[in-house]
Amino acid sequence: MTNVLDGNAVSESIRDDLADCIDTLTHEGVTPGLATVLMSEDPASETYVSMKQQACDDLGIESIHRELDADAPAGDLYGVVDELNADPAVHGILVQMPVPDHVDERTVLRSIDPVKDVDGFHPENVGRLVAGDARFKPCTPHGVQKLLAAADVDPEGKDAVVVGRSDIVGKPMMNLLIQKAPGGNATTTVCHSRTRDLAEKTRSADILVAAAGRPQFIDGSMIGEGATVIDVGVNRVDADTEKGYELVGDVDFESARETAGVITPVPGGVGPMTITMLLYNTVKAAGIQEDVAVDLP
Ligand code: NDP
Repeated sequence: MTNVLDGNAVSESIRDDLADCIDTLTHEGVTPGLATVLMSEDPASETYVSMKQQACDDLGIESIHRELDADAPAGDLYGVVDELNADPAVHGILVQMPVPDHVDERTVLRSIDPVKDVDGFHPENVGRLVAGDARFKPCTPHGVQKLLAAADVDPEGKDAVVVGRSDIVGKPMMNLLIQKAPGGNATTTVCHSRTRDLAEKTRSADILVAAAGRPQFIDGSMIGEGATVIDVGVNRVDADTEKGYELVGDVDFESARETAGVITPVPGGVGPMTITMLLYNTVKAAGIQEDVAVDLP
């Protein structure tokens, strides 16, 4: 029987534990605060930001929101980030990507105070992750690590294959899986668009993490018998639905579940975990900045 992992259930259980951490902080007079910054008219970005705000409200994290016109000068965005860096009520800052073309993404990421960088994309936090001393693990790969733990899949000694090498998913996923630490110790291969014989690599995986942004391109024939398959992909494809599209992963779920031992669905797998780990990092950030010990899950 293939184990279909329920990301919503795992996420709920972590959020319950985070609620206890927030009680601890509140007891010390601290309300964790997350600032979201949106400089885009892209409906998907607007949806992501409002989902993050809603999740904060539900858990008792104060959400602060700043919005800029997409054609505003880059300096306006840096000004907002500076203001939030200096605001003691703000423990975490998230600038929703992508930013408009006239704004340099790297400069934005570097302008966020590293102790408030709850996405974990500032070079200081990337360096700490690589060095095995992570402050904020990037939310999506951290969520994958939590899903593996919830399914009792220990990466130690296993062959892991990550498809995708982006800064937000593939690279940090690799960095977590190779760490000499719980949730790591896997022998890890990272594949990308120049990889030869991709199917041969993916078939060799005990743990396969798909994060390429290619709808359903990994099918059952590319998966080893009994493998754990984590599908990070979220792709819109045309469909005969009310909205005219549906969301699918990078994995062809129906054929993959015939071969996989454990598999995540899309939606309802990695997606809910990403937001939960953002809440996790915000609570952690509040604990660090306010010097309150919180017992994170
Ligand atoms: P990027 O486009 O930044 O990176 C995609 C990566 O996949 C690149 O490294 C690219 O290689 C590689 N790739 C593309 N095509 C192939 C191929 N045919 N074979 C092998 N490798 C390939 O995407 P992201 O990392 O930002 O996102 C990946 C997916 O995950 C997307 O569907 C995105 O929507 C989803 N996502 C989901 C989240 C969630 O919460 N569930 C959060 C973040 C992302 P190269 O480097 O050579 O170009």
